[in-house]
Amino acid sequence: MSANGWEPVVGLEIHVQLKTRTKMFCRCENVWGEEPNTRTCPVCLAHPGTLPVPNRTAVEWTLKLGVALGCEIAPRALFHRKNYFYPDLPKGYQISQYDVPLASEGRFVVPGPDGDREIGIVRAHLEEDAAKTVHVGGTAGRIHGAEHSLVDFNRGGTPLVEIVTQPDIRSGEEARRFLQLLRQTVVELGISDAEMEKGSLRCDANVSVRKAGEGGFRTKTELKNMNSFKFVADGIAAEVERQVGVYESGGEVVQQTLHFDPARGTIAPLRSKEEAHDYRYFPEPDLVPVEPSAEQVAAARESVGELPGARIRRLEQELDFDLAYGLVTSGRDELFARVPGDRRAVANVLMNQLAAAGTDPAAVNGEELGKLIAARERIPRQAFLDALAASGNGDFRADRYLAEETVSDAAALDPVIDRILAANAEQVEAYRGGKAGLLGFFVGQVMKETQGKADARAVNERLREKLGN
Ligand SMILES: [Zn+2]
Repeated sequence: MSANGWEPVVGLEIHVQLKTRTKMFCRCENVWGEEPNTRTCPVCLAHPGTLPVPNRTAVEWTLKLGVALGCEIAPRALFHRKNYFYPDLPKGYQISQYDVPLASEGRFVVPGPDGDREIGIVRAHLEEDAAKTVHVGGTAGRIHGAEHSLVDFNRGGTPLVEIVTQPDIRSGEEARRFLQLLRQTVVELGISDAEMEKGSLRCDANVSVRKAGEGGFRTKTELKNMNSFKFVADGIAAEVERQVGVYESGGEVVQQTLHFDPARGTIAPLRSKEEAHDYRYFPEPDLVPVEPSAEQVAAARESVGELPGARIRRLEQELDFDLAYGLVTSGRDELFARVPGDRRAVANVLMNQLAAAGTDPAAVNGEELGKLIAARERIPRQAFLDALAASGNGDFRADRYLAEETVSDAAALDPVIDRILAANAEQVEAYRGGKAGLLGFFVGQVMKETQGKADARAVNERLREKLGN
């Protein structure tokens, strides 16, 4: 709920690029980042006389995703032609699905700190992507101010799943969580890399607001192409605030497509959308209907394991919401289950130091990591961090690092501490005069002198004693 009783109403349209080996309707390689226009053929360039042949894997993967989204699977789905003219669309139409998509009427549970929210799924349908237009000479790759534009047809005809949610989302933050869970689901199904920065996961949001208790919907605007989870949350929050401002100053929200500038936090119109596009959909006459077999649907059901949302709820029992959410949405909960030891300590190390080390969780030997975490207070901090960085190597053993005991013996620490206090008389005086924050400075000096081998707790204790409080 927003300020003054305004309720945000948000629906998402998400495009997931499937990582099938070949494109949707031809045998061109489906790859990212190759030389422009090197993965094309007469079919995806729309030469006259060519015919599309659907990619079986793309259909089966869409079934999987449909099942994961709790959708009903259509016994007989249709491909349609969506007609519009644009340089990135050589046929003059996109093959998509219209009134009978492969998957529809689903629900996806999004756990939050205050309970579950169930987001309705209108549809998940299969279509081909357009080619990529590259605007040269403008700012931030946008057409405005560009000198010229080029088209790369490598992306043209690659398989996309479009997912449309009901307008059930009530904040930018909730949209972010929905999207992160969807991404994790897609990654676990193995059907897409779903990387927002690379465009293999794209998200638009339809945003409107209404007074609490008000029936129906007010005019919505469309926020385009927000390419990170944070921008989705920030963009929606900014647009909600803008709309509330418009209504509260007596104005009306105009239906339009908007671009969120994350650097400045501002929202600007992309193009006015007063007239809804008439795409003149009609059934694709070159393709027979898609009729998933009972075996295909059963295989799809079989392939969907426990969903990320359910795993968050399960892990929350032994951790807390944030840690459970972090582990699952970063794909670290599988490793978490394999590492023995204090649950909270293990979760914290996985989410912080191990993540910072950039170690691939799947490559880590859980037992060895468990030994290391159990001993983390006894070994020098640097040795612990080095061990985490190495823990993804196949032959990693904790023993070598565990042998590096810290120095906590007063007899060994005292001479070092005395030397440092003597050399920093000014700071000692300042500390005794009340600048308690200087303790960290002394600890740092001792650590430096002992090359990180001193036991931090022991050093703190000895320092406090010697400094006289
Ligand atoms: Zn092709």
